[in-house]
Amino acid sequence: MNNQLYGNLIFELSHKGRRGYSLPDTGIAPHQLPQTLCRESDAQLPECDELTVVRHYTNLSANNFGVNNGFYPLGSCTMKYNPVVNEEMAARPEFTNLHPMQPAETCQGALEVYYNLQKSLAALTGLSEFTLNPFAGAHGELTGLMIIRAYHQSRNDDKRVKVIVPDTAHGTNPASAAVCGLEVVEVKSRADGSVDVEDLRTLLDDGVAAMMMTNPNTLGMFERDIPEIARLVHECGGLMYYDGANLNPMLGVCRPGDMGFDVMHINLHKTFSTPHGGGGPGSGPVGVRAGLEAFLPAPRVVRDNGTFRIENDGDAIHIGAFLGNFGVIIRAYTYILSLGREHVRMVGPLATLNANYIKESLRDVYKLPIDGWCKHEFVFDGLADKSTGVTTMDVAKRLLDYGYHAPTIYFPLLFHESLMIEPTESESIDTIDGFIEVMRRIAEEAATDPELVKTAPHSTPIGRVDDVLAAKHPVLTFNQMKNT
Ligand SMILES: *Cc1c(COP(=O)(O)O)cnc(C)c1O
Repeated sequence: MNNQLYGNLIFELSHKGRRGYSLPDTGIAPHQLPQTLCRESDAQLPECDELTVVRHYTNLSANNFGVNNGFYPLGSCTMKYNPVVNEEMAARPEFTNLHPMQPAETCQGALEVYYNLQKSLAALTGLSEFTLNPFAGAHGELTGLMIIRAYHQSRNDDKRVKVIVPDTAHGTNPASAAVCGLEVVEVKSRADGSVDVEDLRTLLDDGVAAMMMTNPNTLGMFERDIPEIARLVHECGGLMYYDGANLNPMLGVCRPGDMGFDVMHINLHKTFSTPHGGGGPGSGPVGVRAGLEAFLPAPRVVRDNGTFRIENDGDAIHIGAFLGNFGVIIRAYTYILSLGREHVRMVGPLATLNANYIKESLRDVYKLPIDGWCKHEFVFDGLADKSTGVTTMDVAKRLLDYGYHAPTIYFPLLFHESLMIEPTESESIDTIDGFIEVMRRIAEEAATDPELVKTAPHSTPIGRVDDVLAAKHPVLTFNQMKNT
C-alpha cells in the first residue's frame, strides 16, 4: 500500500495532546451530566492538528472520481452536473437548523418549498399529487406498489397479487415487488428490447395488480406501444406503474401521466441534479393520477387558505418517519426554479442529442446491436472487431487512464459485452468530442497493442483489482488489510 497516496488512517496520525479546534465561548455555563450517563473511560478519538486533518482528507478525496473531476457517462445513473447554487440553498441555516418535530407555524417557508416541489413534479409528469417522503428510487417503487395494493384492497379485490415486469427491467423492480409481498411475473422483450405485447397478452388476467415499466427502457429505446399496453393492463383491472428513473429524456417532451401511467416514482438524485453515488442520501418522490390521492403515504403537506399544514391522520400508508430527505428536496426545487419553465423543456432534447451524437460517431468501431434513435442513453456490445480479444472490461479500465469515468458495463444482460453510455445534457461539445476521440484511440490500441488495453489501468493509484477475491474474501478493516 502506497502511503504517499493514501495517507494513514486518521487514527495512526494521532499524537496525544494535539488539537485542531477551538470552540467559541457561548457564555453558557457547562452543564454537569448525571453520573449514570457518563462514559467510564475516555473515547479513543484521534488527536491531530488542523493541517494534518486537512491534508489527510484532501488526499483521500483526490483518490475519488466525481462529476466535478471529469466526464462520467455511467449509463442509467444520470450523472449530470449538480449546480453550486443548489448547495448554497440547501446549506442555508433557515433550512439546516430545522427540527422535524417543530410546529408547522414556525417552518412555513420549508413547508412551502416541500409543497411547491410536489406541485412542480405533478406539472412535469401530468399526474395529480406527489409525496416526497420516499428515501430512494427503490423505496419509491416499494411505496408505489404499496399504494397500488392499498387501492385494490380498498375495493376488496384481494386476488390481485401479480406484478408484471419486463425482462430488461432494473433489478430493483422485481426486488420491490417481492419486498411488497407480491408475485413477480416476467414479460419477454423483442429483439429491439421493447416489451413483447403478444407475450404480455398471455399474462393478463384478474390476478394482475400492476405492470411496471421504464420508458425509455434500460436500452435507451422509447417504448412505442405504451398506449396499447396501458389499454390492455387497464382492461384487465391492473394499474400501470412507471419507473421514472429514466425521466430525464422526457423532460419537456412528453409526460407519463398523458401516456396512461397511474403511479410513478422520480429519482430526484438523477433527473433533478442532486449529488448521488456511494449510497448517499437520495429521494424517490411518488406521484399518482387523479382518484388515487387518498392512498398516498402520511405525513402529507397540505395548504389551507395560504397556510401550510402537516397532515398525519387517516388510514394512509406509512413508509418512514417525517417528510423525506429535505436537503435533496431543496436542491431539486432550486434546480427546477433556476432552469425555469422554458429551459426545463430543453433537458430531454439535449440529453437525447448528446447520446445520439456519441452513438453515431462511434458506431464504426464499437458494435451497435440496436439501430435507430436512442433517447438519453444507448448500449454498445463491445468493440466491433472481436478478433483482438479486448473486452468491454478492458475498454472501461483503459478509459480511467485517460481521465474518464467508465460507462456502465455488462448491464443490461441482453448482450455479452454491454457498454452503456449516458452523457446527460450538462456536457459541452468539447467534452463529448474529447470522449469520442479517446474511445476511438482505445479501439485503435486494441488493434495495434492489445496488451496495453488488457493490462489497463496504468495511471491510477491501484491497478486492476481481483473482483472475485474481493467478493469471496472481503477485507473490511484496516487491521485485516495490514495483515494480508
Ligand atoms: C437508479 C434506478 C433505480 C433505483 O433507484 P435508487 O435511487 O438507486 O434506488 C430504479 N430503476 C432504474 C431504471 C434506475 O436507473
